[in-house]
Amino acid sequence: VIELEIPTSTRQELVDITGHVAEAVKRSGVKDGACLVFVPHTTAGVLLNEAHDPAVKSDVIGHLEWLVPEEFTWGHGEGNAPAHVMVSLVGNSVTLPVSDGRLRLGTWQGVMLAEFDGPRQRKVWVTVLAAAQP
Ligand code: ZN
Repeated sequence: VIELEIPTSTRQELVDITGHVAEAVKRSGVKDGACLVFVPHTTAGVLLNEAHDPAVKSDVIGHLEWLVPEEFTWGHGEGNAPAHVMVSLVGNSVTLPVSDGRLRLGTWQGVMLAEFDGPRQRKVWVTVLAAAQP
C-alpha cells in the first residue's frame, strides 16, 4: 500500500488527487491490473468525476449540502453528523483500470478526495493489483 497524505483547506471540498494516484501506479511497475484507492476516514471519501470544470466540484458539494442539511435532529453529538451521511452517499473507495503501466481514465475523469469535515490532513491508501498472467 502506498500512503498519500493530502491536506484539505476548507470544511467541504473536492481535492483532485489524480496526479498522485497516477504517480503511484507508475511507481508500482504494474503493467496491467487495477488500482484500489481507499480513504480510511469516516468524514472524508473518494469519488470519480469531471475534474476540469471547477463548477462541477462546487455543484456536487452544493447538492450534497442540499440533500443533507445542517438543520435536522441529529443524534451524533460531534457536530459533524452531516459529514458522516455525505460520506455514506459518496463512498470510501474507487477501483480504476491500469493498462500499459498507467492509470486509464476517461478524458474528463479525475479522482477526487471528498472532504466533508475539514480542514484536516487526510490519508489515502493506494493499492495497485497486477492482473493474473495467462
Ligand atoms: Zn463524528
